[in-house]
Amino acid sequence: MTGWTVRPDGGRPQAARRCEHTPVDEPPVPRGAVCAECSARGRCWVSLRMCLTCGHVGCCDSSPGAHAHAHYEETGHPVMRSAAPHDEWAWCYVDEVFLQPGPADDG
Ligand SMILES: [Zn+2]
Ligand SMILES: [Zn+2]
Ligand SMILES: [Zn+2]
Repeated sequence: MTGWTVRPDGGRPQAARRCEHTPVDEPPVPRGAVCAECSARGRCWVSLRMCLTCGHVGCCDSSPGAHAHAHYEETGHPVMRSAAPHDEWAWCYVDEVFLQPGPADDG
């Protein structure tokens, strides 16, 4: 893992595709394999996202709870990645861009 860079085909087409929130440290260990908030209420979710700042696991915006977004609102932790093992993408809530693993490309 060498960090994250903005995905060229992701995010808003008109916007400057920049993100200065990409974590460069080792990713945190996920705090769980479920959305704790939903699990405690016996609710379902669509898919999970993991906070790259602290490892919080919450459900995505397509889920009724949207707890990953709630975690961003609560903590200001800007970048979440998909918690699915084969999903190599992340999302910056601040810049609203998709990120992919890899070094920054200044091309
Ligand atoms: Zn950002
Ligand atoms: Zn949830
Ligand atoms: Zn967090």
